[in-house]
Amino acid sequence: MEEKANCPKCHKIGEKVKNITVKHMVSENLMGKVVDEETYYLCMNEDCDVVYYNLNNERVFYKEDVKVPIWFKKDANPKYICYCNQVTEQQIINAVLDDGAKNIKDIIRLTGAMKNAKCEINNPLGKCCSPFIQETINKALNSKK
Ligand SMILES: [Zn+2]
Repeated sequence: MEEKANCPKCHKIGEKVKNITVKHMVSENLMGKVVDEETYYLCMNEDCDVVYYNLNNERVFYKEDVKVPIWFKKDANPKYICYCNQVTEQQIINAVLDDGAKNIKDIIRLTGAMKNAKCEINNPLGKCCSPFIQETINKALNSKK
């Protein structure tokens, strides 16, 4: 059974994230607070300042405790989609609207996204950004119509 954990602040169910990802995302001075082997969760609510928390909510890391803006959180700036190559949502939208990009392959060619990917330690979810690139392409294509 998959463990489900609710955010201590907004009480929504978070996404499970690898321990190594959390260790790399929090500020250097907080790294020691990330307990080895412990499972963490990422709060996906854009309005909530909580980023990572553990199952029993003993450890909670907020937006200001992590090194990068969390792209889906309100006021994230810059809004990175590909953290490995620091490609922003706006760059992807521009590639679609100004340079005619239609798919992920075009985005990779035009922006350098997804090269030298180390998603496990660079992306706040610890996963490849390709679904989010696709989502951004779709959004840009729809705005064109
Ligand atoms: Zn939350």
